[in-house]
Amino acid sequence: MCESSLRKRVRQSLVKPIVQGIGSLLIVILLHGCEASFYKSLRGDTMGTYYRVIGQCRDSLTYQLLESELLSLTSVLSNYDVESEISVFNLSENIGEWVPVPETLVHVLAKAQTISEQTNGAFDVTVAPLVELWGFGVKEVSQPPSAESIARELRRVNYRLLELNESDNTLRKLSNIKLDLSGIGKGYGVDHIAEVLADQRCSDFLIDIGGEIRVRGHNALSHSWRIGFEVPDGTGQSEVFLRLSSGALATSGSYRNYRVFNEKSYTHVIDPRSGYPTSHNLTAVTVYRSTATEADALATALFVMGFDDALEFAESHDIAVALTTWDADSEKHNASYSTAMRALIKEGN
Ligand code: ADP
Ligand code: MG
Repeated sequence: MCESSLRKRVRQSLVKPIVQGIGSLLIVILLHGCEASFYKSLRGDTMGTYYRVIGQCRDSLTYQLLESELLSLTSVLSNYDVESEISVFNLSENIGEWVPVPETLVHVLAKAQTISEQTNGAFDVTVAPLVELWGFGVKEVSQPPSAESIARELRRVNYRLLELNESDNTLRKLSNIKLDLSGIGKGYGVDHIAEVLADQRCSDFLIDIGGEIRVRGHNALSHSWRIGFEVPDGTGQSEVFLRLSSGALATSGSYRNYRVFNEKSYTHVIDPRSGYPTSHNLTAVTVYRSTATEADALATALFVMGFDDALEFAESHDIAVALTTWDADSEKHNASYSTAMRALIKEGN
């Protein structure tokens, strides 16, 4: 009975990874006592979405611990908190001056800058003015922006206009830039919680913040964590699975967050080179990496690139990627996988 309840699927949206046997299903198992396990399952809200953590730990794993860690992280990284460190930096008019900031902020920005370099600016945290212009920031907008306003804001979008000094935790703006960490923050949060769990001597865990996932070890049935991609053929029948005992998965897509202006829909992922929301037949990208920070930022970058460039990038950098495209003729979603992702899938099925 426990086995069969574990095999029920936790369905999420069409193209997101699906994790089996977690959340409330696991609680049922602990209550029925059919596994000699010390797995604890906790969930809550953070970063405008949910989080859930399942862990088997030698020290205590508490809701209070997770909440206070996530709260201290968002007090640095959140654009929605006007007093956060990132908001204070965004508002400051100190152009050209080095300003001290918390180590966490320098750390996440250093990771972001590395991905920006690697992806030739497809991922760029200085995209904030464009995010706001297109109505994905704090303020709502009712019309698409004019070409002039896009051109004006584009002048202050470039990751090279931000400089970091990791040795003394300082930052400086070379122009009046604004930063948006939404494309990397959830992944960074997942990795941060992974460190917290490691400190609590958790040998096995699954962390999920809004669909960005990191695992270690085994689930309560002593199997690697089983995570599936629903093949987006509309039937919801066939699925492709990964069996993971380490690493992270993150997804970027056009299906979750978009705006409709004059009956045309615009996704929240913006090409920082053109100033316009990405517009192509790619509907979702899922990336597997050792850390969720990297997976999260790369998923956004690959989504910006579009199918051909994303697949070429994945192959040339040996990155495991699943790409979902929409075929307007057949009115179907198609899934494609990089060589590294096909190898992972083979191990998991
Ligand atoms: P999600 O937040 O749904 O997981 P992403 O990880 O792709 O999706 O992050 C998208 C968010 O990142 C957007 O809502 C926006 O705030 C920001 N963003 C948009 N375009 C870019 C970009 N090219 N580089 C970095 N961040 C971006
Ligand atoms: Mg992302």
